Amino acid sequence: MRVISLTPAQATCASFISFIVIMTSIPKVIGVNANSTAAANNDAAIADVAAAATPKSAAPSVAIVEDESFITHPPPHYLDNGEISALFGKLQDLFPHLATKYSIGKTVKGRQMHALALTARSENGKKVELLRPLIKVTANLHGDETLGRQMVLFLAQYLTLNYANVPEVQQLLNTTEIHLLPSCNPDGFAAAKEGNCESLLNYVGRTNAAGIDLNRDFPDRLENQQVTQLRSHRRQPETAAIINWVLSKPFVLSANFHGGAIVASYPYDNSIAHHECCEESLTPDDRVFKLMAHTYANNHPIMRQGHSCNDTFTDGITNGAHWYELNGGMQDFNYAYTNCFELTIELSCCKFPTAATLPAEWARNKRSLLQLLKLAHVGVKGLVTDASGYPITDASIVVSGLEDKPIRTTKRGEYWRLLTPGLYNVQALAFGYQPSEPKQVHVTNENSEALRLDFTLSPLETNYDGISSFYGQYFFRH
Ligand SMILES: [Zn+2]
Repeated sequence: MRVISLTPAQATCASFISFIVIMTSIPKVIGVNANSTAAANNDAAIADVAAAATPKSAAPSVAIVEDESFITHPPPHYLDNGEISALFGKLQDLFPHLATKYSIGKTVKGRQMHALALTARSENGKKVELLRPLIKVTANLHGDETLGRQMVLFLAQYLTLNYANVPEVQQLLNTTEIHLLPSCNPDGFAAAKEGNCESLLNYVGRTNAAGIDLNRDFPDRLENQQVTQLRSHRRQPETAAIINWVLSKPFVLSANFHGGAIVASYPYDNSIAHHECCEESLTPDDRVFKLMAHTYANNHPIMRQGHSCNDTFTDGITNGAHWYELNGGMQDFNYAYTNCFELTIELSCCKFPTAATLPAEWARNKRSLLQLLKLAHVGVKGLVTDASGYPITDASIVVSGLEDKPIRTTKRGEYWRLLTPGLYNVQALAFGYQPSEPKQVHVTNENSEALRLDFTLSPLETNYDGISSFYGQYFFRH
């Protein structure tokens, strides 16, 4: 466990005093190997099933000292927006090589939307190495659905506090970049009431301060462009901030927590027929989405049973549109407009359960969260460059059978293409370049990182032949 020294000035801050308790509590020994962590959740058998479906990580052979003191010290309570800011600030101060605090924007009432990026950087390293996939975990889009908000905050503390001692956490932060947004709707949370299992009158707390349901406020893949433009003029600041955030970072995988049910829901949330419910509306990547949903549900002792809150969901998962249709949702926006594959995960029957339930909820969700995060490493990843090794931005990675969902390369020429095991033909295409030959790959997802598959593209333009052969004698001779 890390030793933390404090200055007297810091110790006068009330929020920091609670943090001192967090940081100095006695860690507990939780087991002797990776499976023991799952056993702590009374869920070893299910964890084994999920482990088979997710990349393997090295099983440590020595006792792991794991620090989860943050769950009970200080006594469980929901952090308000100011406390989230203080917590993220302190995590950044204490773990500068792991944590970076930032804000994605402001709410109607001017509250900051606090975020934390977690990844292991080398000493003084500013740039993260190539091909490290970005994940996001978000919550509280409906301000009165609060459990996920606190799970995200527990996750932030768990990952930072345990990086030094827990190989699984080390592996995760050494190979992925995890962005946490505990509240997408801080104004709604401030208006909601702890212990209220249903929304208040007029959905106060569920909506933002302007009374808008933010999970109906995103651009929708099925609306025509005119409607999208009209709606964009009225877009709420919280939605606009999330849209800009999602578009500005090459997220690969995402979880988005809600409450009022216990189920992992995957896109799409609507269909062309616009039926109210009971009809599936599936993406081309249904196999990946089912893997993600099963991974979360199978590791959650209640969700996997599929019977809760007067609902029945086979294996604890559902297609969004089959459950009930919604338009303008965040989940579909992620998949339809970006490279990011997002799940909507409903965590509790009661929307705003009392804080006393938080420790047990962390125990239920911890393994699910960790296993889901590892799924950023399934499939293939690589670089698309020109013959000189320069990255090609916005190239398309097209997979046979999944042509309707090309993945675009980043500014650094990187791509990540989540895939379930199988044989695939993968091709890279970019404006101004000849398409690559299709490369056949056998994806097994048996390694801790995605299969590496790079592409080098040649210019399409023949008019430059004279120039390229002129420079060629200097630069292209091997
Ligand atoms: Zn919700």
